[in-house]
Amino acid sequence: MSDSASIIAASHWLDYLSAQQPRMLARLRDWVERESPTTAKAALDSFGREVAAAFAAAGAEVREHAGPEAGNTLEFTAWPQQRRPEGDLLVLGHLDTVYPLGTLARQPFRVEAERAYGPGVLDMKAGLVGALFALEALAALGASPRRRLRFLFTADEEMGSRSSRAQIEAAAREAAVVLVLEPGAGPAGKLKTARKGIAGFRLRARGRAAHAGVDFEAGASAILALARAVVELAGWSDPARGITVNPGVIRGGTRANVVAAEAELELELRAFRRPDLERLARRLAALRPADARVEFSLAGGINRPPLERTAAIAAAFAQAQAWGRELGLELEECATGGGSDGNFTAALGVPTLDGLGAAGEGAHSPGEYICLASWPRRTALLGLLFARL
Ligand SMILES: [Zn+2]
Repeated sequence: MSDSASIIAASHWLDYLSAQQPRMLARLRDWVERESPTTAKAALDSFGREVAAAFAAAGAEVREHAGPEAGNTLEFTAWPQQRRPEGDLLVLGHLDTVYPLGTLARQPFRVEAERAYGPGVLDMKAGLVGALFALEALAALGASPRRRLRFLFTADEEMGSRSSRAQIEAAAREAAVVLVLEPGAGPAGKLKTARKGIAGFRLRARGRAAHAGVDFEAGASAILALARAVVELAGWSDPARGITVNPGVIRGGTRANVVAAEAELELELRAFRRPDLERLARRLAALRPADARVEFSLAGGINRPPLERTAAIAAAFAQAQAWGRELGLELEECATGGGSDGNFTAALGVPTLDGLGAAGEGAHSPGEYICLASWPRRTALLGLLFARL
């Protein structure tokens, strides 16, 4: 803990950020009203320019990395003089939402009964606003962070972070610790100290077409072979161990009077432990059709490794919990089946604390909201983590 950071009592952080609540809410409204779906690059980049301007005004140096398939990734560096050999404090966020352009018209930003609603308000525009105000608070309170602060805000998280993964991993390799601005779980805003890993696959079946009336037995149905496979692999789920196999999309065939020559399945495997995920992937690769005249071909693999609750992650959580208590915040932790960009950084062995955005519910749904009552406290905690970690 640096001297300058340690002398700023938690109560000052809380007083300052409580007083900022009207500005935070105005900023939140502005950012929610700038729609930024993963699939609309122009809108995303335009929102990104607003975010970059706000962080620049708070003293951060801005770099933009072109996202050829997706929106641009933003990188901000603050407090460069605090650079340490053990690494930066890396803050991960994403600019994109799952809501198509125009959603705002039927799901407008609104505040009602201590909640703020709107598309992407929880996941994760409130997280981005929180990071901005925690950064501003450092200077306003005369605190300085222990480490150089680096922020990486990507634009394709909601579609698997394909184009930003390498940028995230490169930044993580220079980081001593990672904070993720994903929402906390539920109204309590629990931090996420374990996340499942995700593997995605496309299983294609190729059989033999035939007239269903004249020549039925000459046909080899790709649909039937795939249907049998679906029933088998769905049986690999083991919810008690956190292992799930989800046949999410299936399509195939041409007409009701034709034995289907082609069918395909998109499926997803999830597990808390990497060996479980790898074992399931091997089992899937070894799966053979019941009808030997049908051929299977498989594409895909692990796209997010699990965020496993290592001793370092448990220790980082315990530290955050202790600092939370100084703010009157009783922080809890949980495990979740959902992935985030924190999966990538944790898999590299960098202690990663996830779920530091706002508390709330209903992400990716019309009822998405954040709890306003806990927002200043959670933002004050983020400031303390910036200062002290
Ligand atoms: Zn998110």
